[in-house]
Amino acid sequence: MSTITTLEELFVEQLQDLYNAETQLIKALPAMAKAAHSPALKDSFEAHFEQTKEHAARLEQIFEVLGKEADGKKCQAMLGLIKEGKEMISEKASSEVKDIGLIAAAQRVEHYEIAGYGCVRTYAKILGHKEAAKTLQTTLDEEAATDKKLTVIAEKLNLLPQEEAALKN
Ligand code: FE
Ligand code: FE
Repeated sequence: MSTITTLEELFVEQLQDLYNAETQLIKALPAMAKAAHSPALKDSFEAHFEQTKEHAARLEQIFEVLGKEADGKKCQAMLGLIKEGKEMISEKASSEVKDIGLIAAAQRVEHYEIAGYGCVRTYAKILGHKEAAKTLQTTLDEEAATDKKLTVIAEKLNLLPQEEAALKN
């Protein structure tokens, strides 16, 4: 266990956690895209795969400016979230229900990232790392947009008639 005494150290530690989370996601997203049935969902996972590589690159750039190592932390939360995504991939559900389940898993990931980026963006502001704060805000906005897009896709999926009826009751 490392020792964190200052906000600057916490900032670096949280960035390393996010960096590890992003690199785990880069490895996991292609399987999510492959498992998606709806073309819109497949496209969305593929687009977010490209975006996630960009997120990792942005963090690397911040580490370079800070003169710190990007590696150093294993994000246990992302490990668990991806495990749940994999469980959903192997479920025997109908294509629509499977897609909705994949979206549920993906939105948990986005919310985790939104929490993480919101924190480091604020620490960057407090610590006077203006450029980093701007970069982190850009990623935060993209994670939030991805989350919203997933909701729109979920709402457009064709549920079975009886499930549709139940929703209206
Ligand atoms: Fe990301
Ligand atoms: Fe994301």
